[in-house]
Amino acid sequence: MTTAVTATFRFYEELNDFLAKPLRRRDFRCACARDATAKHMIEALGVPHTEVELILVNGESVGFEHPLADGDRVAVYPKFEALDIRPLLRVRAEPLREPRFIADAHLGGLAQLLRLAGFDTLYDNHFADNAIEQLAGAEHRIVLTRDRELLKRRGITHGCYVRALKPRAQLDEIVERLDLAASARPFRLCLMCNAPLRRIARDEVSARVPPGVFERHTRFVTCDVCERVFWEGSHWRRMRTLIDDVTGRPPAKPPAKPAAPPPSPTDAAATQAPLTDADGDIASPG
Ligand SMILES: [Zn+2]
Repeated sequence: MTTAVTATFRFYEELNDFLAKPLRRRDFRCACARDATAKHMIEALGVPHTEVELILVNGESVGFEHPLADGDRVAVYPKFEALDIRPLLRVRAEPLREPRFIADAHLGGLAQLLRLAGFDTLYDNHFADNAIEQLAGAEHRIVLTRDRELLKRRGITHGCYVRALKPRAQLDEIVERLDLAASARPFRLCLMCNAPLRRIARDEVSARVPPGVFERHTRFVTCDVCERVFWEGSHWRRMRTLIDDVTGRPPAKPPAKPAAPPPSPTDAAATQAPLTDADGDIASPG
């Protein structure tokens, strides 16, 4: 039998949400196995390692694999905390270069809003946890989930536990936590496919959009994967307002890069888009 060691822990800010109630926002002592690392203990207490930005043991910044010794004091800080910890060594080598995401099966609405804002976001409601772990590692994506067990997987180095329940509030939360407002590039990606949108000549879409739309609009974009055509309709303006709202930008000017309801009649899944108020004009503008 190994001799247990006892360390004192303190978790900061929102990391407390993961702890049992009696352990929140205070120092507490906890017995650990002799060979336990900081990561073992943090996760055993319920906190996914992907949520952790910085670990101090007796005041020194350490990595996840740091072994704990009897009497250690362990302070654990969250990612993206406003507190400026940048001068200190972080537990990860470096942040991901550009924010790219993979959303779990319960976050389809958030995935579409992130695409709308121009953030590359993989989503498929059939993704198994193994697939998410593997894709996150292979493509350097930040995992978005409300499943803390998923974030404990070793292969997931960057992840966000999403606290909000509704897509719009989730988008606000992610933009705020990851400081994404300045990086938003709305209407760059297809909401359905996550593929880039490109400009398409007006005379190429005459047979692909309703006649009224063709008469009223001059600028169109298309997705080469699903072949939907988008234009600057009322739906576009609602989405623009939403994105300006979330990113704190000034109100919209006439668009440089349009997108709006896709007229493709082939994909009923589009009616699941969470962005429409009620009329579903994202699916069938005709
Ligand atoms: Zn598409």
